[in-house]
This record gives sequence, structure tokens and C-alpha cells, in this order.
Amino acid sequence: MRVRFAPSPTGALHIGGARAALYNWLMARGSGGTMVLRIEDTDRERSTPENVDQILDALAWLQIDYDEGPISQVQRSARHEEVLQQLLADGHAYRSTATGEDVKAYKAQHGADKGFRGTPEAEGAVRLRVPDDGATVVHDLVRGDTTFQHVHLDDPVIARADGTALYNFAVAVDDADAQITHVVRGEDHLSNTPKQLLVYVAMGVEPPLFAHLPLLHGPDGKKLSKRHGAASVQELRDAGYLPAAVRNYLALLGWGDTDDETLISTEELVRRFDVTRVAKNPARFDEQKLRWMNGRYLRELSLDELTAALEEYTGRAGLRDAVQISREKIQTLADFWPLSGFIFDGPGEDEKAKAKWLTDAGRGALVDAHDALAGLDTWELEPIEAALQGVVAAREVKPKDVFQPVRVALAGTAVSPGIFETLQVIGQEESLARIQAAAATAA
Ligand code: GLU
Repeated sequence: MRVRFAPSPTGALHIGGARAALYNWLMARGSGGTMVLRIEDTDRERSTPENVDQILDALAWLQIDYDEGPISQVQRSARHEEVLQQLLADGHAYRSTATGEDVKAYKAQHGADKGFRGTPEAEGAVRLRVPDDGATVVHDLVRGDTTFQHVHLDDPVIARADGTALYNFAVAVDDADAQITHVVRGEDHLSNTPKQLLVYVAMGVEPPLFAHLPLLHGPDGKKLSKRHGAASVQELRDAGYLPAAVRNYLALLGWGDTDDETLISTEELVRRFDVTRVAKNPARFDEQKLRWMNGRYLRELSLDELTAALEEYTGRAGLRDAVQISREKIQTLADFWPLSGFIFDGPGEDEKAKAKWLTDAGRGALVDAHDALAGLDTWELEPIEAALQGVVAAREVKPKDVFQPVRVALAGTAVSPGIFETLQVIGQEESLARIQAAAATAA
């Protein structure tokens, strides 16, 4: 099996592209086959080296590797030209004789986007000759057969007047030369496939098998876009997801009969992935489910692994103890700092929490807590807890009437890791200083 991922470097790698890359990779790895990476840079205006780098980085982050490539499509232009000359010579292709004026007149008469057989194009552009009758059938591993009657197909333009290849031509030549056996890509390419099949026929080459993946929708059923949150791989990375969780989620997405909340290791995915089981209907990308799954993956990391990931993500060092007391409460790497950054940077400024808990009664609780904690000579969880429980008992209040003012004193908000653990990690001296400062500002 030889598969390929063929992104156009006209933007970042989007989630749909990442899914196509992953499915190809799973097929290659599962069959002992070959994964080819081809950069389809024929759109010279919109393709940039920065986008190429971004795509390569995103694939590396996802740990999707390839055996051949990256191959630049533009660098194969001599070969495209060679095949073009051959098709012109044997009559499978012809140069359009319509002038720019003809194009204008035609469009004025028929509307700019009416697709009719023989729609005029700029003079000298090369078109593929579609047979007058018959049909081209796309056999698709996901969608079954789709029949395209030739009478409804324009003769596709395959090269500009200057001989440079257009997408539907270049892609077929490149896939044929690379002996690709399976083309797995987004459903948006389905209408291109008959044109590409006709190129194979003209070249006299056996075409590969095709699988078109259903579109990705957001939870609202609309086509996935930035509105739904992260839309590119880079954004998923910035949002604190782990590559293994993203791979797991993307693999299950649209894989018809599997519960999409199942944790499956990459090894098992490689073993079980079967493109023919991809569902035909649009897949729903639900970031909440990915968050949940990511949380599960975070919990499978060792403390050292998670600490390393968080230190890299936040650019801060010395996080281990704080990670230990936060890890049950975070689902993404991005959740850590808002929850626990106060341990390092001091209390935040949640005025609502302060108004609610740093009241007169709150001040009394803080003063008592300060005294009880100041008297401890071992700063361990058990004595810390006993000291605060002693304050609760002595004041005859509910635990939260003591714990919440202390929490707000330490964190500046009413949400934090466990209060005893937080006190311990912050240390006795610093905890007492924060409690004293909060007591002084309490109403
Ligand atoms: N370059 C095309 C794209 O990025 C994909 C082509 C293909 O997979 O055949 O949409």
C-alpha cells in the first residue's frame, strides 16, 4: 500500500487536513506500506515557505511521519510538461482557441459560473478531451460508486497557456508516478475525482483506489470553522491538547460504529484502522469531547512527564509540586496556569470572590487561621488540616467559612487546588504573609 498526504501550503494545517494525514498514516503503518508527503505548491501566489514550515511542524507535533518527501509539486513541473506534450500529441488534450473576448462574451451570456461542456477559457489553455458519451464512475471506499455522465462534464482545463499544470492534472501525474495505491482525502475533492480519473485513462495508467472523507462539522451541525474554537493544529497545540489525545479523537471522529469517547492507543489504532468503516455522513468535531479525552490522557502521564509538558508549555520552571496538587483538576495544559499560577505569582484579583469572602467574619476566620498555622512546627498536610479544622470548631462555623477566606487570601479567587495541599506547596512563611495581607484588607 502506498498512500500520500498532499497539503496545499496556502494556510495552516486545519483539523480536517490533519484527519486526512492521520488516516493515511494509519493505513500506511497498519499495512507496512509507504506514506508519501507531497506539498502541492502549484498555487504560486498563495503558497508560502512559512506555510510549508507550519504544516511540517504540525505533522511533527502530531507524530505523523512519512517515508518519502516532502516532495514539492512545483519541482515536478518538467515532468508535468512532458506528460502534457504527450497528451497533446496523441489527441487526448487540445489547446483552447477561445480568446479572452470569447470568454467574456460567453460569461456575459451564460453567467460566470455556469459549467457547460466546452466553456471557453483563455486562448492557448490546454484542455483534456472528455469522451462524448459514456460515464466515469468513481469507486469510493467510503461512499460507494458515484457516476459522472460525460455529457455533464466540461473538458477540464489541465494547463495554463504557458504550459504550467493545474491541480487536477498535476495531482494525477504525481500520484501515478509515485505509484500511489490509495488516495484518501476530504470529500470536497470528490467532484475533482472524475477529471483525475480521465487523466489516468489518457495516460494509460491504472488509477488508485479513492476514499473521500466526510466533511467535519461543529456541534451545531455547520461546517467546522474558527467559530467553533480551535480550527488548526497549531491552535489545538496552543490550547494545551496533547498530540496523542488529538490523534485518538481524530481517529474516532467519523469512524462510524465506535463510541467517540473510547481511549485507544496509537498502536491499537494502527492495528484496527479501516478506512472502509469511515461513516459517510458528516463527522461532528466537538471540542468538549476532545477536552474530556485530553484530560484522560493527562492523567495517564507520570508526574514527571506532565511536569515536563507543563514546564515547556508555560515556559516556567519548578512546577512539580504545584502540578501534583493540580493534575486532577485540569483537562488541558492551558488549564494549569489559570488554576495554579497564583502559587508562583501571588493572589489574583477576583473582586467578586473578595467581596464575598473577605468580610468581617472572613477577617475573623483569617486571624484565627493565621494564629493556628503560625503555631505549627511541621508544615505537613495533617497538621495543616488539623489546625484549620480546629479553627472551624472553635468558631462554630461551617468549614467553608474558614476555608474559602483562606483560599481567597492565597489565590485571590475562590477556585484553587485543595486548600491544605495549596498551603503546603506555598510554604508556611508565604502562606502566613498572604493570610495576614488579606486580613488587613478585609472589610
Ligand atoms: N492539495 C489538496 C488540498 O490541500 C489535496 C489534494 C489531494 O489530496 O488530492 O486540498
